[in-house]
Formats: sequence, structure tokens, C-alpha cells
Amino acid sequence: MVNVNSQGHLSIGNCDTLELAKDFGTPLYVYDVSMIRQQLRHFHKAFDKTGVKYAISYASKAFAIRAIDQVIAQENGHLDVVSAGELITAVQAGFPMEHVSFHGNNKSLAELQLALDNHVGTIIVDNFYELELLNKLLPQQKQPVNIMLRIAPGISAHTHRYIQTGQVDSKFGFDVQSGQAEQALKQVLQNPKLNLRGYHAHIGSQIMAVAGFTALVQRMVQLAATWQEKFHYQPQVLNFGGGFGIKYTNADHPLAPQEFVYDMIQTLKKEIAQTNLTMPEVWLEPGRSIVGEAGYSLYTIGARKIIPGIRTYLSVDGGMGDNIRPALYQAEYQAVLAARPEATPTETVTIAGRYCESGDILIKDQPLPESTPGDILAVLATGAYGYSMASNYNRVGRPAVVFVKNGHAKLVVKRESITDLTSLDLNYL
Ligand code: PLP
Repeated sequence: MVNVNSQGHLSIGNCDTLELAKDFGTPLYVYDVSMIRQQLRHFHKAFDKTGVKYAISYASKAFAIRAIDQVIAQENGHLDVVSAGELITAVQAGFPMEHVSFHGNNKSLAELQLALDNHVGTIIVDNFYELELLNKLLPQQKQPVNIMLRIAPGISAHTHRYIQTGQVDSKFGFDVQSGQAEQALKQVLQNPKLNLRGYHAHIGSQIMAVAGFTALVQRMVQLAATWQEKFHYQPQVLNFGGGFGIKYTNADHPLAPQEFVYDMIQTLKKEIAQTNLTMPEVWLEPGRSIVGEAGYSLYTIGARKIIPGIRTYLSVDGGMGDNIRPALYQAEYQAVLAARPEATPTETVTIAGRYCESGDILIKDQPLPESTPGDILAVLATGAYGYSMASNYNRVGRPAVVFVKNGHAKLVVKRESITDLTSLDLNYL
């Protein structure tokens, strides 16, 4: 999972990670830009072979900064945003806004207005309240507004339960079983100011098997066909969401994007052939699989606590503030010593964060070679939902982010300073 340079150090994008730590400080997020481009290209290639019209819409919640939006645009990706912040980041990145989809289960009136003002390509409508809000804004719109309906298709992918979103008991989307999806469809079709592009569903995250996705394809086509018969509406787009799994540790064996896409499109073609539907465009929304494995977290090792016969804790200068996933849903990672990633492990340690929570443990039972304070530890595959979920817990600033490529490192997000952190505080007395 790692590249090693001639000095035996961990290398990312041909940059020596010890140099990166020295130049930019730690904790540091490092992204291998070529890997990000490569992942997108895998998706494009897989679709190009199918002859089906498609869009790869990067779910920017996985990692939403200006620089990544710019890379995605260059690679002909589309973009999903879920907030005013992500939307304006896309605007500042110069992202073509007609290729942006706006998601979220509780978009505010102001956010919807912002989306319309910035000519967001598609609003993915999640619920009846959102339709009400949109209705308030439609009279000022000269052109019909492009929307899709997010439906909860009642399919649950095999994954960790806290990050499932496709099952019936979900806060997202119009429920099919109880007839809410059909009711929403009727409402939308009667509204000449809404241009319904099609249906959206997302069944979960870190999905390792294709079965959930092919089941989703079948379900969506069946629904689209039923609704076509009832309402004479042919969707232009079916959006099957994201959730493609990645390799966090050696225990993970994800499928390549090509394998997911191939099976989904085969299923789609077969299912469509049994209906009166014409082939829709297919949109996917990968987040984690675009940026996850391309990202690394560099930390400096500090205190060591040995509890004889029980456990050795190695504390690092980051933790749950820059990567909440282990504490939030027991996500597992693996790490290497940046100076000797291939050295034989001599001990098993628990990597503890620096935050004041017992649960701030980044990795339990990580085999490592001997280390001393000041050594650099690299946690692998932290590119998704790490920086984007970062917090200022304990009033610690968020790390800097660098993009590396061909031996060059470029700072793309500055480290948050204590001045930044305290800049919004006002006196009370
Ligand atoms: N699309 C939607 C609607 C989502 O909710 C998510 C994640 O929560 C994604 C796409 C991206 O999922 P992933 O990063 O697992 O590919």
C-alpha cells in the first residue's frame, strides 16, 4: 500500500514524507493528486466502454476544498454539494455550476436561493418540506428549475449500520413503501416550473460487494417503469449514488470501479430491455473512492505510555480533531513509520490522539518498528471524511493540506492558527 524512496522513506507523489513533515509541520494531510485523477479516470474508462451516457459526480462531502474541486473539474467530473459552504467552495473553484448537484435533507430557504442564484445544475429534492420551500422561490425563476427526486428504495447495503442510508428507516429521501415517493412525483409533474430530470438513491457507504448496487439498479428500473405506466414520465437520468468501498487496511478487498460499473450497467441494460423505458443517463456519486486512498495523515510521535502486560500507547500530535472516524464509527486504519515503512515490526502499539477523550484512539493494536519521540507516523487512506469532518475540539487548529505530484508539494489549505481559532470570539464582560 506504500511507496518507498531510495532512502527507504515513505514517499507520496515522489515527495519524501520526512521532508513534507519538516517543511509544512504536523499533523499534515497529504494528497497524491495523480491517484485522485487515476480513480476518476477509472470510472470514466469503465463507462466509456458501455456506450451509456453518464456523469461521475464527486461527492465533495468526502473532502471539500477549492483545490479538489479544481482537480475534479479538470478531470471532467461533476460535483455534489450539501451546504452553502460546499456550494460556495465550488463557485470559488470556478467549477462549472451546471455540473453541480445540491443534496441535503434539510436545505434552508437561503441555501436553495443561493443554489438558484448560482445556477446550480440540479437540486436533488429530499422531502415535501423542501418542495414547499422551492415553491416559494419558483415565481422569481424565469426558467424551470432542474431537480431530481431522492428516493429511499428500501435496500440496505452490507456495511456499518451508522453509515447506511438506503434502508426504509432513513432520514434521507422519499419513502417508496408508504407511497410518499409516488406522491412527490405527482406533485412535481404537475408543476411546470420544475423540470424533473429523474430519480436518485444512495444505499450506503464503504460497500465492498456489487450485489447491493445491482439490486438498486433493478429496483430503480422497476419503479421508473411502474411510474412511467402510471404517469407517462420517462426519467432522463438515474442516479445510483456513491458508496464504493476502499482499502483502509490489508483486511479490506474492494472492487475496482470498473467492476462495479460493469455489473451495474449490464444489469441496467437487461432491466431496461424488459420495460418501455429508453436508456437513461447514469450518474454516480463516488466520494470516498475518489479521494480516500490518495490521502495520508502525517503525525509526530510524542509520549509513550507502557502499561506492563496490557498495552503500550503511542500518542501523536493529532487525533479525533483531524480524523473523527475511528471514534465515531470504529473505523479502522493502518499506519507506518515514515522513516522506515518497510522495517519489521517489533512491537504492537495503540496510536492515541492528543485530545482529551479516552475514545480518541486512532488505531488499536498497530504493529510498528521501534520508534522514538519526534518520529513521523503516517496513517494511510485518510483522504475521505477526515479533513472534511475535522473539528476544533480542545481549541486545536485544523491541519494544513498539501497536494503532491511528481516530487512537488503545494500547500492548498493553510494550517489553522490560534488567531484563526479565536477570531470569532467576542467579549462578554
Ligand atoms: N451520495 C450521497 C447522497 C451520499 O449521502 C454520500 C455519502 O454519504 C455519497 C454520495 C458518497 O458516498 P461515498 O463517499 O461512500 O462514495
